[in-house]
Amino acid sequence: MSSSTPIPTDLLVPTAKGLYCERGGFFIDPRRPVARAITTHAHTDHAPPGCDQYVCTPRTADLIRSRYGPEQNFLTLEWGTQHQFGEVMVSLHPAGHIMGSAQIRIEALDGGPVWVVTGDCKDDDDPTTEAFESVPCDVLIIESTFGLPIYHWPEPETVLSQINDWWATNADQERTCVVMTYAVGKAQRLLAGLDPNIGPIGIHGALVGPTEVYRAAGIELPETIRAGRDTATELQGRGIIVCPPSAAGTPWIRRFSGKDGMETAFASGWMAVRGRQRWRGVDRGFILSDHADWNGLLNIVRNSKAKRVGVTHGSTEAFSRYLQEFEGLESFVLGDQRATSDGDDG
Ligand SMILES: [Zn+2]
Repeated sequence: MSSSTPIPTDLLVPTAKGLYCERGGFFIDPRRPVARAITTHAHTDHAPPGCDQYVCTPRTADLIRSRYGPEQNFLTLEWGTQHQFGEVMVSLHPAGHIMGSAQIRIEALDGGPVWVVTGDCKDDDDPTTEAFESVPCDVLIIESTFGLPIYHWPEPETVLSQINDWWATNADQERTCVVMTYAVGKAQRLLAGLDPNIGPIGIHGALVGPTEVYRAAGIELPETIRAGRDTATELQGRGIIVCPPSAAGTPWIRRFSGKDGMETAFASGWMAVRGRQRWRGVDRGFILSDHADWNGLLNIVRNSKAKRVGVTHGSTEAFSRYLQEFEGLESFVLGDQRATSDGDDG
């Protein structure tokens, strides 16, 4: 058998609304609004609007508030602090995905196996998020967005200097640079790596809110201007504009064109696959992901010392099978309705 179904006595069980902990009375990253959601991070596919309460880190709360408004109800937990829900203790530990992103550790008061849910995670260098922490456990639930051996990330520093070189070359030719990327997390990571000596940095309106939350949290980012009608002249030909993929090909983006036009790029883990770049219709693809690559995922599994591993998102079947056959672990697949390939959160 290639996978086994979790037994009902498990601390967490998959339901139509998402992973549920009956003994604690909460869901983890539910797909739909629920009474109590323990939220790994602020991306909307993990934090749906309308939950009665979000349990998360203070930084995740700030990001959710900036998106859904101030009236949300939060219970925030500091890193590593134990909090009792029903018959279980819960604590949050850095997942390294985006600012404030957490793994969730759950342990029943009467003992039994310790469970950890990684949420989206990575163990790469990233100055804009807390470094991934290895949390020993018996059962690990891990994402496998890039759970195939074809995914190997270059050093993030190398990629960021490639982006700066590309920008400098284009600025010399009076071509504006446009980089499309995910608005929360990846965009700020990209901004942190840009060299403001090359030219002005413009950001799309969708990035303004999250970027301010990052700055308020003390993450160092270069000066940015909101890309719009009144800043177009300043950005044309010299600037770089960071925007979500939805802005591609719109009249909004075309107004920033320099004397010699513009070049576009997409920054994502999906750029590691030949053909994706063409599919996106961009001039350049930069491999920059906020998810662990193949080796990263294996490291996280091995360091957790878990004997049982549940796999969710993306290449679940392949990754789960590898864990069974080559790592000698008990592994199962957790079904998920979320977009699993080429999502913006890559
Ligand atoms: Zn995410």
